[in-house]
Amino acid sequence: MKAPAFRYARPESLDEAIALLVEHGTDARVLAGGQSLMPMLNLRLLQPSVLVDINRLPLSEIRLQDQTLDIGALARHAEVLYSGEVAHMAPLLKLALPHVAHLAVRNRGTHGGSCALADPSAEIPACALALEASFVLRGPRGERRVPAELFFRGLYETALGADELLVRVDYPRAQPGWRYGFQEVARRHGDFAIAGLAAAARVEGGVLREARLAFFGVADRPVLVRGASVEELRERTDKMEVSGTRVYPPPFRRRLVRVLLERVTSSIEK
Ligand SMILES: Cc1cc2nc3c(=O)[nH]c(=O)nc-3n(C[C@H](O)[C@H](O)[C@H](O)COP(=O)(O)OP(=O)(O)OC[C@H]3O[C@@H](n4cnc5c(N)ncnc54)[C@H](O)[C@@H]3O)c2cc1C
Repeated sequence: MKAPAFRYARPESLDEAIALLVEHGTDARVLAGGQSLMPMLNLRLLQPSVLVDINRLPLSEIRLQDQTLDIGALARHAEVLYSGEVAHMAPLLKLALPHVAHLAVRNRGTHGGSCALADPSAEIPACALALEASFVLRGPRGERRVPAELFFRGLYETALGADELLVRVDYPRAQPGWRYGFQEVARRHGDFAIAGLAAAARVEGGVLREARLAFFGVADRPVLVRGASVEELRERTDKMEVSGTRVYPPPFRRRLVRVLLERVTSSIEK
């Protein structure tokens, strides 16, 4: 099926883009890599009257700051995956990105697009949660910063207002003593996960002392579990609510969650 008719705008500046979002409100949609939006239009799941193509805006930079590694909303998955600074300062993303779709999609799909879409089975939102990233949103009243824990609000729902753009995601720089683990279960490599886990943990003498586990694909948004030992993480994970479908019912997903926890914590403590 073809997409419904829409007006197309390609602003040259952030101010122009935001003015378009203010003018059209919920009738407008931001177009970034188009890897999710265009299929949704073709399937008529969305019928916006205007597409605001942000690809000419200067939002692709990956920049190392004193405290953070800032990833522009338009940085493509492939650019993030092959960035030396990301490998060094946000290594969890480097572990996760090979699991995001496949090469063609990674060449077009953007960091901001994945976060703004907030698919509950997506890898990048879970990494942002585990790494305590913050999201920089820009709208008609200027910029605001939203921590990852408050950004993801539900199924395909975020803190972004209809008149706001996600401009970048700021990740605290990796600290000495912290290790990272990533695992997911999917039907085929590159498919959205049935369940997955992105983890950051502080390890002393090979023993996990503090951890943030972000499970994805198990609820309407990524779910954070914190703990100061593997035993505590097991207890808290067992209490976590897990949703399911007819094909992957909750007991099956719960079993996957336990397996993911054991795999990731043992790889981190190794
Ligand atoms: C075959 C296939 C397999 C895939 N597999 C995976 C997978 O395994 N894991 C995974 O995580 N993803 C997967 N994806 C999705 C892919 O990662 C997309 O790139 C991503 O979800 C959306 O990024 P995009 O830049 O293409 O955004 P778009 O499709 O352009 O936009 C997606 C949504 O976000 C909004 N948006 C985009 N950028 C901004 C912004 N800066 N500010 C505000 N709103 C914005 C748009 O309005 C739209 O609603 C897959 C896609 C395909 C086609």
